Amino acid sequence: MARRRLVAGNWKMHTGVAEALALADAIRAGLPAQPPCDILLLPPFISLWAVGRRLAGDARLQLGAQNMHWAQPGPHTGEIAAAMLTDLCTHVLLGHSERRQEFGETDAVVHRKVESALTCGLLPIVAVGETLAEHEAGRAGQVVRAQIGAAVGGLSEDEAARCTVAYEPRWAIGTGRAASVEDAVAAGAAIRGELREQVGPVAETVRILYGGSVDETNAAAFFAAPAIDGALVGGASLRPDAFCAIVRAAGPAG
Ligand code: PEP
Repeated sequence: MARRRLVAGNWKMHTGVAEALALADAIRAGLPAQPPCDILLLPPFISLWAVGRRLAGDARLQLGAQNMHWAQPGPHTGEIAAAMLTDLCTHVLLGHSERRQEFGETDAVVHRKVESALTCGLLPIVAVGETLAEHEAGRAGQVVRAQIGAAVGGLSEDEAARCTVAYEPRWAIGTGRAASVEDAVAAGAAIRGELREQVGPVAETVRILYGGSVDETNAAAFFAAPAIDGALVGGASLRPDAFCAIVRAAGPAG
């Protein structure tokens, strides 16, 4: 089935408010009037409101947060709850490998966050991916199946249909060493197989993105594979020309 592609830009821990506004302006200016795909910007929390105001009325762009806490609003100093994001954005990235590595986020934590996001009406983008050692041991498929199974296990069909998955091998993130298209397609097939087992036929509607050193030089090769439903872009999303080139390369639905 045809799924409209999504290109998402994860700005990570970059840009103050003024820089974020300038980056959003530059991206808007470089985008085609009718982009071939959905486009999502993931600025830091501090800029969500300002960037959202700046993008208001521009149907080409959607906004998401890079993380959230699983709990209801309450005594969790320094954290942001799903309910606090719903006025600011539509999407939230969950389980990014930098969160898993630096903050010890487990599959169980990611699952709680997915549930909380869905309860509040946010659309989760669930990131999964294997380490270099797991990749070299030929265990990528097994690892991503376990991660995605834990993240979506127990969701209803309706809830699963509101999720997007990002396959991001850890060793490819920020390294300049992207996965091969074949490896990305194989991991995507493993993820879709697990989704089918967990949530049934609605799995066919879930977009599975590739992320890990995607830039303007390699995006078209990934998008030549019909099974790749889009890209989660880190470093290159901070360069407006590169990000807009990736969007243009996305082409029609796979
Ligand atoms: C990311 O942050 O999700 C990512 C894929 O980063 P990069 O594109 O820089 O590898």
